Amino acid sequence: MNDNPVKPLSIYDLDLVQLQERVVDWGEPSYRALQIWQGVYKQLWSSPVGFTSLSKGLRQRLDAEFSLWNMRPEISKTSLDKNTVKTLFRLGDEKAIETVLMRYNKRNTLCISSQAGCGMGCVFCATGQMGLKRNLTSGEIVEQVVYYARILKASGESITNVVVMGMGEPFHNYDATLHALDRLNDKDGFNLGARRLTISTVGLVPAIRRFASEGRQYNLAVSLHAAEDELRSSLLPINKKYPLNELLAACRDYVEQTRRRITFEWALILDVNDSMEQAQILASKLKGLLCHVNVIPLNPTPQYRGTGTTRQRAEIFRDELAHHGIPCTVRLRRGIEIQAGCGQLAIQV
Ligand code: SAH
Ligand code: SF4
Repeated sequence: MNDNPVKPLSIYDLDLVQLQERVVDWGEPSYRALQIWQGVYKQLWSSPVGFTSLSKGLRQRLDAEFSLWNMRPEISKTSLDKNTVKTLFRLGDEKAIETVLMRYNKRNTLCISSQAGCGMGCVFCATGQMGLKRNLTSGEIVEQVVYYARILKASGESITNVVVMGMGEPFHNYDATLHALDRLNDKDGFNLGARRLTISTVGLVPAIRRFASEGRQYNLAVSLHAAEDELRSSLLPINKKYPLNELLAACRDYVEQTRRRITFEWALILDVNDSMEQAQILASKLKGLLCHVNVIPLNPTPQYRGTGTTRQRAEIFRDELAHHGIPCTVRLRRGIEIQAGCGQLAIQV
């Protein structure tokens, strides 16, 4: 279960039932597990020293068997306006991942990684350009959140939203990602509401269908970026395997099954996918679907020649969608000077 080479076992890799089994194996009553769980996810303790409600013997056992701090923050950068903070973590096997905190509109949204690198090869994405190094364990996904939650707690704040939009394709690491979100959502623990958790996928159709059938309440975002197969395949190679008609059919079924709105992501690339015509084709394909489109000017990356669209063209694109009844928001590029785009810090080290 724990393929992170750092020993002892990361406590964040366990769910409550697994922790209870451990505690019972140690000859302790199972309610002790809940006390540990709350120390980890409510009090956010980073060392067994904090667990004063436990006996000294149990604290020592906890210390010997579990690690509460597995990832090393190596670089942290704060944007000029102080609203975006990005951290590069070194994992136990020296792989690097990134986590970004974005503070705006009274929200503290954390953008977390699901894999080190990514195997999907989207041409404009810094993470895609580095290839897949490995899947993260559920504990490594959870710990990114716990790390930032501790920092915010020190100033009386908390994480209000989590988006799985950092490095990696979460549906390519389905089980670990969903287990991690379940852990963050747990009422007895971190207790972040399901509606505050969002998964973004490049469009792995079988996983979208599986997600729809499982009845979890997390939000779903799908990275679209083009409304025609030829263009989309040239940007997102996975489109050759799951073309737009299959993808959008799965999205329609998701909305029908869950009654939940779906979000589409669209990185606007100057003179590539920012035309009025693309907006019109997109609008026709999304007609009648309960959805929202987020457009964001592309963040330039080293191995891709395209550049972000202008503010004015982004607004024209948005207005064209709105004209056809498709709600759309233009997102700002946050933290551009600290390489806050997906994978952009890791590619430099
Ligand atoms: N793999 C998932 C989640 C991580 S990428 C996915 O693709 O959805 C999160 C979002 O950032 C995606 O919408 C992705 O297309 C977008 N993205 C990647 N590189 C970008 C860049 N250089 N500029 C703007 N958005 C980018
Ligand atoms: Fe992977 Fe998402 Fe980047 Fe595509 S955009 S390479 S799926 S992280």
